[in-house]
Amino acid sequence: MAAEAKKVWMDGKLVDGADAKVHVLSHTLHYGVGVFEGIRCYDTPRGPAIFRLEEHVARLLASARVYRMPSPYSHEQICRAIVDTQAANGITPSYIRPILYRGEPALGVKNQKGKVSLAVAAIPAKKYLGESSDSGVRAKISPFRKFHSDSIPSFAKTCGNYINSYLAGIDAAEDGYEEAILLDHNGFLAEGTGENLFLVRDGVLYTPGPESDILLGITRASVIEIANDLGLKVVEKLLTVNELLVAEEAFFSGTYAEIAPIREVGHYPIGTGKPGRLTRDIQDVFYKLVRGEEPRYAKWLHPVTTTAAPVARTARRAGTA
Ligand code: PMP
Repeated sequence: MAAEAKKVWMDGKLVDGADAKVHVLSHTLHYGVGVFEGIRCYDTPRGPAIFRLEEHVARLLASARVYRMPSPYSHEQICRAIVDTQAANGITPSYIRPILYRGEPALGVKNQKGKVSLAVAAIPAKKYLGESSDSGVRAKISPFRKFHSDSIPSFAKTCGNYINSYLAGIDAAEDGYEEAILLDHNGFLAEGTGENLFLVRDGVLYTPGPESDILLGITRASVIEIANDLGLKVVEKLLTVNELLVAEEAFFSGTYAEIAPIREVGHYPIGTGKPGRLTRDIQDVFYKLVRGEEPRYAKWLHPVTTTAAPVARTARRAGTA
């Protein structure tokens, strides 16, 4: 990532990507206790705009609270740091990655004394699932279950959570699939490695709810709102593999994946085996709105302005956000 990131924001300073380093004995590296976000910035007729910036920063701070990582920066300061990083790199569309971490040498799993730092990087955005995200993704049901929230809270977006996604993801890739679908502890559908899941049946949208130990995706919430605005019914419930196999349509939602139709699960085609009509309708609205072409959703776009704020100087006074 650093190779592609020209400038990385680290505790108030914009440093060259090659110099964006942390200590090898850092607590986050060893124990996975760090929290992060993935955010996209799109080109719009009014200039670059960050999609749902405030919601991402709110989730970052909520994740930090779960892990008792007092953020030295307020919500507003983190938003500013993200905007400044985007402006300094000047790449759109981009994928922005803020992370709160303990980067100083601090071994010992219960060590909470290490300084909490914020870094923000912005790299050129790619299509996560390649061309397939348009024509439809082939996914498999993973032999790895989604971790239970009784062990690790799934609502927090924590570095260590992704060893679960990693195992499921590489297993799917080794079997020739583009993505994995993880089941929850009880065998109900949970989500992809980095995406939420939707099904369509009889014109109704279904998606697993919080009880399936998912991450409450910001794209998921956006899809639900778009679907409601299109007059579609959306039901959150426990969903079985059975229901996925007979679905007329299915798709993933996520910041990196955006809205990616699923055309096959295992060797079973979903619906006609091609992206379905309602998936396309939702994709149409989504791709228009992120490019600033749907005034109704302008509230979700945060313009990137280039005035640098003195985040570094005020940082230490912010206290816990
Ligand atoms: N589930 C998991 C496990 C994820 O990592 C992500 C990506 N953040 C999502 C769902 C989708 O969330 P969002 O729409 O907020 O990117």
